[in-house]
Amino acid sequence: MSDFDFTVPVLIAGAGACGAAAALAAVDAGVMPLVIEREDRAGGSTGMSQGLFCAAGSQSQRDHGIEDDADIFFADIMAKARGQTDPVIARALADNSASTLEWLRESHDLPWELDTRFRASYGNSRQRIHGWPGHSGLEMVQLFHRRMDDAGIDVLMETKLVDIFVDDDGRVTGAALERVDGAIEKVGCDALILACGGFGANRAMTDHYMPETKALRYNGHEGSHGEAIFIGERLGAALGDMGSYQGYAMLTDPQGISVPPPVLIEGGVIVNRLGDRFTDESDDIAGMVHPLSGQPEGMGWVIYDAEIEGRCKDIPELAQLMELNAQKASDSLDGLAALIGVDPVKLVAALFDVQQVAAKGGTDGFGRVWTNDRPPQGPYRALKVTGALYHTQGGLQIDGQARVLRSDGTAFPNLFAGGGSARSVSGPSSWGYLPAMGLTTAIVLGRLAGQAAASLSTN
Ligand SMILES: Cc1cc2nc3c(=O)[nH]c(=O)nc-3n(C[C@H](O)[C@H](O)[C@H](O)COP(=O)(O)OP(=O)(O)OC[C@H]3O[C@@H](n4cnc5c(N)ncnc54)[C@H](O)[C@@H]3O)c2cc1C
Repeated sequence: MSDFDFTVPVLIAGAGACGAAAALAAVDAGVMPLVIEREDRAGGSTGMSQGLFCAAGSQSQRDHGIEDDADIFFADIMAKARGQTDPVIARALADNSASTLEWLRESHDLPWELDTRFRASYGNSRQRIHGWPGHSGLEMVQLFHRRMDDAGIDVLMETKLVDIFVDDDGRVTGAALERVDGAIEKVGCDALILACGGFGANRAMTDHYMPETKALRYNGHEGSHGEAIFIGERLGAALGDMGSYQGYAMLTDPQGISVPPPVLIEGGVIVNRLGDRFTDESDDIAGMVHPLSGQPEGMGWVIYDAEIEGRCKDIPELAQLMELNAQKASDSLDGLAALIGVDPVKLVAALFDVQQVAAKGGTDGFGRVWTNDRPPQGPYRALKVTGALYHTQGGLQIDGQARVLRSDGTAFPNLFAGGGSARSVSGPSSWGYLPAMGLTTAIVLGRLAGQAAASLSTN
């Protein structure tokens, strides 16, 4: 008699972007998976995101005349991580990003297109960030859930993966699930996909693996406890780049809403509490959290103007901030300085400097190149920001098919991981994050895992 209460061909733990992509891929391969989710609703880190993901060589890029391909994307990933990442995972992501986007568009009616506001920047040498214009990550994950529902996939909410069972050969035989009333159910499976997100909400883990984030606020999903990672580690899985994470320097205070990167890409700058600029705002969207944290009170002001606002106002996060009237506004820099409490002389000097440099198409003292960007020229806007940890980027070591690897490099035959649960391609620390790679690793690895897991089904 089986030790399990019931058996499914493919079990997927976590119903964010990774779990949903895995589930849709499995069903497309002819195998009906079961998805479990610890929360009572669709969301995860995916639901907090801006819903943007990288794809290289998509039809939407071609429609906009953007030349891009997997090799260029791979080179960008490796360059951003200064060569200190796993080329096998980087290759899998680069090679499969566009086909994954087209598959979801064509087979599941997920309407991603190139986000033309997100110009090539921050390590993406081509314009390759795709989104669902005007819609948030929450709407995206809700649409994913609708598509799972359309496909007849059951998602058991309030059901948490708490343990994994393996046989003597290291093959996963099933998992223990904790239901909302505390009851434990044992479910057998032919393959298990770990799509539980990262460990940003697990303070003991972040303190241990990334002690420099202790002082940072956490602005990620509370379900990111790292269970997939520590349960996997208990089984003998290897971990990779556990000190890797995405920080963000533009979390508005007190609203707790992210200022979208295009505000800087279009020419916005950041000054500290005194009114001084302190960094090249175009250099590292994630690593910039550290220069900001080093400023007085660890806070700053994003300075932009009405023209930049006009170009970015349809981005859901900026639209929300505008609805809340979060921005300080003034026609003059003196007026703005008075509103935000910074030294007007310093603020005027900071903006005058970039305006002068930009007029000549030069490079400013922080290394920001002003050939294409137009610095703020008024009427001015300011948003108060602080730095935060958004999501972790280290996790279970996987191969190019998203199979979890043991410390000796061999693969568990039927255990897969993707998204926040797996090692990503951001290098060992905070400086290697290429914008929109969080969802790329979730969606692309989810799809690869779903396909491979389905091929192992014995039913
Ligand atoms: C504010 C913010 C903005 C971001 N913006 C972007 C962006 O625009 N583009 C981008 O690429 N990345 C972005 N990211 C990162 C991106 O959201 C994540 O990298 C991505 O969503 C991870 O997807 P996932 O499916 O692995 O994890 P999640 O979306 O977090 O899904 C994991 C799910 O697993 C559930 N779970 C956890 N443990 C268990 C368990 N034991 N059993 C069952 N279920 C469990 C969780 O509740 C959760 O629903 C952002 C992150 C944040 C915080």
